[in-house]
Amino acid sequence: MIDPWSSAVVDYEKLIEQFGIKPFSDMIDDIDDPHMLMKRGIIFGQRDYGRIVKAIREGSDFAVVSGMMPSGKMHIGHKMIVDQLVWYQAKGADIYIPIADMESYSAREVDFEDSRKLAVEEYITNYIALGLDFNKKNVHTYLQSENKLVGDLAYVLGRRVNLNEMKAIYGFGGSTNISHLYVPLMQVADILHPQLEECGGPKPTVVPVGPDQDPHIRLTRDIAERFKSKFNFIAPSSTYHRFITGLTGDKMSSSKPKTAIFLSDSPEVAEKKIKSAKTGGRESLAEQKEMGGVPEDCSVYEMLLYHLVKSDDELKEIYHDCKNGAVMCGECKARASSMMRAFFEDISKSRKDAMDVAEKVLMDK
Ligand code: SF4
Repeated sequence: MIDPWSSAVVDYEKLIEQFGIKPFSDMIDDIDDPHMLMKRGIIFGQRDYGRIVKAIREGSDFAVVSGMMPSGKMHIGHKMIVDQLVWYQAKGADIYIPIADMESYSAREVDFEDSRKLAVEEYITNYIALGLDFNKKNVHTYLQSENKLVGDLAYVLGRRVNLNEMKAIYGFGGSTNISHLYVPLMQVADILHPQLEECGGPKPTVVPVGPDQDPHIRLTRDIAERFKSKFNFIAPSSTYHRFITGLTGDKMSSSKPKTAIFLSDSPEVAEKKIKSAKTGGRESLAEQKEMGGVPEDCSVYEMLLYHLVKSDDELKEIYHDCKNGAVMCGECKARASSMMRAFFEDISKSRKDAMDVAEKVLMDK
């Protein structure tokens, strides 16, 4: 069982085996101009992604749904989702961004007003700063608690889901609060509502997620099937990305500040955090020269791989230099930290401009 509200690290191979997720590499050759995260295997799994590839190829309608749960600060690991949305926007997708204030309230006890504030000042601001254009007509952002179409759909869909099923999927027990019990249905409705007639009718829809969110995807696909005759839903597709390792070697988490670089950190702080991050270096310089480093076990290398180095050739060179002991961690960290500083100088400026736009995103709804 995977719990979407815990921070347990997931075994990716097991997930592929046990839950029938297909390797993303099966698809990669069919995608024109795949995203860097796809090419590098960071997006590692998919369900029914062929439908999305076809829609992109043919220029036909498709939707992307990616919710945000405003419960803490955004860290650099969250950037992966925004990078994907920017890519999908360029490919012509209708983008739906539910703000999961109901989930935030029931699972984290965040008040609705605080959720809204956090969504605007932290999440939407960062999404804009990272390149998502909210002024385009095809971006639909809403608070779960205010979207009647989604709320009504959740209620209708709930008729064919029972308590035992929710317990089996999510491990809900006697102490689970009733609001929390209802939250997965809201998420199912978030994912399926772009296919309602009010939103243009049935269309391929993709949900890019971390593997911890797979229970929602499986439930949604099952429910889509149960309501096929009523709504003609197409079961949603999904992609799965690896989590970025935290600076300490554990999972990066907003609730553990030592593991994370926050998008609101200053360039100086971000640079400093890279300098003190855990690497895959050896005990001594002599050993590292002889045996090489272990980039697969290095949080600095992950930053380069996921975010900082756009050129595949440059990345390969860094990898080989590390493996061959041609570069030492001090030099490598210095390079990565100055790249991180430059990235944060840009994003700090963009965030200032983004704040004004972010204020208006929910007002216009
Ligand atoms: Fe990581 Fe660079 Fe050290 Fe290799 S040389 S282990 S990539 S910091």
